[in-house]
Amino acid sequence: MKYDIIIIGGAFAGLTAAIYSARQGMKTLVVTKDIGGQGLLTTDIQNYPGFESISGFDLASKFQGQAQLYGCEFIYDEIRSVNDNEGSFLLQGISEQYESDALVLAFGKTPRDLGSKGEEKYKGRGVSYCSICDGPLYRKKVVLVAGAGDHALQAALYLGTVASTVYVTQKGNRISGSEDMIQQTKSLQNVEFLYESEVEEILGDRTVNSVLLKKKDGSENKLPVNAVFVEMGYIAKTDMLRGFVDMNKDNEVVIDMSGKTSHEGVFAAGDVTNIPYKQAVISAGQGSVAALSAINYVHKKRGKGAVRSDWKFVDLNKKPKA
Ligand SMILES: Cc1cc2nc3c(=O)[nH]c(=O)nc-3n(C[C@H](O)[C@H](O)[C@H](O)COP(=O)(O)OP(=O)(O)OC[C@H]3O[C@@H](n4cnc5c(N)ncnc54)[C@H](O)[C@@H]3O)c2cc1C
Repeated sequence: MKYDIIIIGGAFAGLTAAIYSARQGMKTLVVTKDIGGQGLLTTDIQNYPGFESISGFDLASKFQGQAQLYGCEFIYDEIRSVNDNEGSFLLQGISEQYESDALVLAFGKTPRDLGSKGEEKYKGRGVSYCSICDGPLYRKKVVLVAGAGDHALQAALYLGTVASTVYVTQKGNRISGSEDMIQQTKSLQNVEFLYESEVEEILGDRTVNSVLLKKKDGSENKLPVNAVFVEMGYIAKTDMLRGFVDMNKDNEVVIDMSGKTSHEGVFAAGDVTNIPYKQAVISAGQGSVAALSAINYVHKKRGKGAVRSDWKFVDLNKKPKA
């Protein structure tokens, strides 16, 4: 089935684009790996206007519900490639292929991989990229945080309240991160720093049971752990778009003020783009801009006039609920 607009990504940028697109009567599909994206990693967003405090999950669920009111469809899949074919866009997911007239890229940022042997094999089986999401699974267990700076310290601080022992690897001979975070982490009795150490390999059977640590002097030792939390920060995983849209040196998709990319018919919004500030409210705002531009692109193709804003009243009783 061909859609008017397909949005890749189901977090603040993608879900806002979905609301705008579906409200304007576009046949809209969101293809996403999850609902909420990075927002799922925080239980307390305090700077989203209208909410003094709300979890990322609750906020994103409200966005999704609003998009569904206007008939937006959702499919859980991971897009692996994007191509165009005579004015249509073809998206290859893991399970299916999708087709649309216009495309909104809103797939944000993804945790950076550690790059150690065994990481791929044990993803989801002891290797985690989200301490807040998966930490509770390791209550009173032994875990290791492999990462850098405040990302790693923040994870260690949280895991210290859950796990029995938290090891934190450090490449150098001192702790990297902000002074405040270092002091807080050091005050926890069950957090131990492993200096001049890196994870050479993640080992296990069905799930992780140990790591092979390599010291700076070349020596190796095996450390029993139940889980490895990778906390290396976030990157724009845009390899599939190489040569398709312009990107900056950080592999972020370059957009103009209207959310247009260098490829006609392709728009982008949120953390995946070269906007300087990465925040939920900014992603949402950009999602609306990208959607309006995508709507106008489709309208132009069909000889229809441009939409300047989205003030029109939509009678929800007459809209199909998804
Ligand atoms: C721990 C933490 C706390 C934060 N706290 C705050 C805060 O308090 N206030 C604030 O404003 N911001 C906060 N942020 C930042 C905020 O979460 C992000 O700026 C925001 O989530 C970006 O939204 P986005 O829609 O651009 O992308 P993302 O949130 O990165 O979402 C990307 C979406 O795309 C999907 N996706 C990715 N790749 C694919 C693919 N190939 N195929 C299909 N789907 C794909 C993902 O599953 C996800 O749904 C925080 C971030 C973190 C990590």
